[in-house]
Amino acid sequence: MKALSIKNLHKSYPNVKAVDGVSFDVEEGDFFGFLGPNGAGKTTTLNCVIGLAKFSKGEIEVFGKDNKKDFRDARSLIGIAPQEYNFDPYLNIEDVLVYQAGYYGIPKGKIMPRVKLLLKQFKLDGKKEVDFRKLSGGMKRRLTLARALVHKPKLLILDEPTAGVDVELRLEIHKYLAEINKQGVTILLTSHYIDEIEKLCNKTCIVNDGKIIANDLTKNLVDDLDTGHTEILTDKKSKIKKIDCVEFKGNKIIVWNKGKDKLDDVFEHLSKQKIKVLDVKSVKDSLQDIFLRLTKK
Ligand code: ATP
Repeated sequence: MKALSIKNLHKSYPNVKAVDGVSFDVEEGDFFGFLGPNGAGKTTTLNCVIGLAKFSKGEIEVFGKDNKKDFRDARSLIGIAPQEYNFDPYLNIEDVLVYQAGYYGIPKGKIMPRVKLLLKQFKLDGKKEVDFRKLSGGMKRRLTLARALVHKPKLLILDEPTAGVDVELRLEIHKYLAEINKQGVTILLTSHYIDEIEKLCNKTCIVNDGKIIANDLTKNLVDDLDTGHTEILTDKKSKIKKIDCVEFKGNKIIVWNKGKDKLDDVFEHLSKQKIKVLDVKSVKDSLQDIFLRLTKK
């Protein structure tokens, strides 16, 4: 089943086409990475999904529910942790969660056990009576996540959930997200930490200038667009005639993965010239290299 299906989405602001024909599907159970440079149209796309932005053309379905015709049903399946904090400054953090559940029609009496559990899971139980202005940045991030999860959404949308948090908390959040994804929550994640997407997301979609420029299994993206190479370190400069896909840089020889079959030739030449090999290492492209190449930024 498709958790989210976006077809030919268009959204323009007076001087900019923020989303220009975006289509992609997120399958139930996916941990889906949505990547793009600043201003690429990620948040606008997400705002169209949750009904914060009106779109001029296209279709969006959430678990088969049209997000315009069946707005309430579609919206109730989504939990959103937005990039910007949008808490009511006069509520204490327990009430932030209780009120959020209220927006989904769940009364306080019913939601309290879940609120308590979430405050505990996100290590906020000691602060439940504090209002959000008195929380640290990391605590605010945790509260944003807890709030997104309060009504047990089937699709969790996270717009840069680890922006500005320290390494330890980032790892904790990764662990928690991987765990709830395993338990069946579909996750759509936008992040500027590409290593985060590479680590967590089984699929990755890259958007640039409002258009999708890549959408595949994260593993395939890394493999297919690979410009990885093998680096051979020798004890002296080698004198070998030009070979395709092979570069000689002093004591270093680079054999690009596209010319991997040339590796035997290179070793044979080195052996004939009595040049010793000191080290051989394989260097793989990261999703970051690929992202930078695709978006040319
Ligand atoms: P970032 O990574 O910086 O958050 P993004 O990929 O989420 O970027 P968007 O916030 O969707 O990008 O912005 C896409 C384009 O739409 C940008 O040019 C932005 O200036 C413009 N834009 C976004 N919201 C509005 C708005 N409310 N009014 C006018 N223009 C907007």
